[in-house]
Amino acid sequence: MNIILFGPPGSGKGTQAINLVKIFKLHKIATGDLLREEIKNKTVLGNKIKSIIDKGLLVSDEIINGLIKKVIFNKEINNHLIFDGYPRNLAQAKELDLMLKKNNKKISCVLSLNVDKESVIKRILGRQICTNCRKIFNEYFNPSTKDNHSCDIRFLQKRSDDNEKTILNRFETYLQKTLPILNFYKEQNLLHQINGKAKIDEISKEIRDIIASIET
Ligand code: ADP
Repeated sequence: MNIILFGPPGSGKGTQAINLVKIFKLHKIATGDLLREEIKNKTVLGNKIKSIIDKGLLVSDEIINGLIKKVIFNKEINNHLIFDGYPRNLAQAKELDLMLKKNNKKISCVLSLNVDKESVIKRILGRQICTNCRKIFNEYFNPSTKDNHSCDIRFLQKRSDDNEKTILNRFETYLQKTLPILNFYKEQNLLHQINGKAKIDEISKEIRDIIASIET
């Protein structure tokens, strides 16, 4: 089973991916995380990537395909993949199909989390990520508390691209480049639309039901 989590920035893909990885023993491939790893290493490539991300633009397909190839051709994690934030344009979606075909694999379903622009902006402005356990919180809607989080609060951080100006650019990039992919998957009968404004647990349940219906 290979799943794509689709939706605008801040739609909750990362939050749902964490749950699904645990329940279905999947291997998460989040291109945003892979890129941030590269930035952390302060390489020449990392610096180039940072300036693109901070503008709210897409990193080149060449860089992304290079990162993805390393994981897709890893036999140990084959066929238990959950893609978060990838593919991000039609060229990447087509390239992913080709890479999977070469490994006799395919996408099982595409789960699209639908959330309007105003809501994602509010969510992103409050987003906090624990650099220790990777859990995602929101200082307004889903704050880190003693009950839901055991790490020290000094681990909670904001992403440098989670500011008002960059968010607007990221949303525009999403509408122009990423949203058109939906038709590509709809035509293949792989698309499932989900209300991304429902509660985290409700979305999680809906996704589990969809996956169960695919597996049987
Ligand atoms: P979000 O979904 O909240 O925007 P991500 O962590 O998925 O966060 O992505 C952060 C940034 O990394 C994007 O705005 C983009 O610049 C870059 N990025 C991530 N994935 C891709 C991709 N597949 N292709 C091109 N750029 C990407």
